[in-house]
Amino acid sequence: MKKLFWDDPYQTECTATVTEIDGNMVKLDQSIFYAFSGGQLSDEGTIGGITVIEAKKEGDKEDIVDIVYTLEREPDFKVGDTVDVKIDEKRREKLRKLHSAAHIVYYIVIDILGKVKINGSEIQPEKARMDFGYDKPLAEKLPEIEKAVNVFIAGNHDIAMLPDTEKSDLKWWTCNNWKMPCGGTHVKNTTEIGPLRLSRKNKGKGRERIEMYLTE
Ligand SMILES: [Zn+2]
Repeated sequence: MKKLFWDDPYQTECTATVTEIDGNMVKLDQSIFYAFSGGQLSDEGTIGGITVIEAKKEGDKEDIVDIVYTLEREPDFKVGDTVDVKIDEKRREKLRKLHSAAHIVYYIVIDILGKVKINGSEIQPEKARMDFGYDKPLAEKLPEIEKAVNVFIAGNHDIAMLPDTEKSDLKWWTCNNWKMPCGGTHVKNTTEIGPLRLSRKNKGKGRERIEMYLTE
């Protein structure tokens, strides 16, 4: 499957050829419709006018080999047919901004706190969160982290998704001198994100959570 969401993460409509159908489940030759991966939630939308209730990727970790879409009913189209694929534009826009923001927060946290262990992260349209193994309360450091994040975001830094030299189903998120494997959808420049608001939650001893919210 050709990953159009990597070629252009701003594209919200495409046509595709149906390659497989199994009951309510379909596969396509190409798609803009992202499936939950690397903590980023799936897009919402339609295939051939039918609502997609689940998008599930095939592949490990950050790589995305193929995607199986579950429709809310059995499709009336057949294998080989051309269908329209549409996604919720506003949801994608927020996911794009918050996923890029989460990576920036990760690196700024390491800059300020030193090496910390990441225990998980999730990118939702309304907020992103990242869990750290850190044995002191983060509350007192949070204003400093938030300020540094917002200075960086306002600093007009380009973000690029570079191909892996060996695995064609894997991309590298790059910005500043930072680089991490990531299959997500991202903004092209940090200024698109706008100012970020951070909040902290303690999730038990040695477990600190930072939540990120868009403010524009
Ligand atoms: Zn990522």
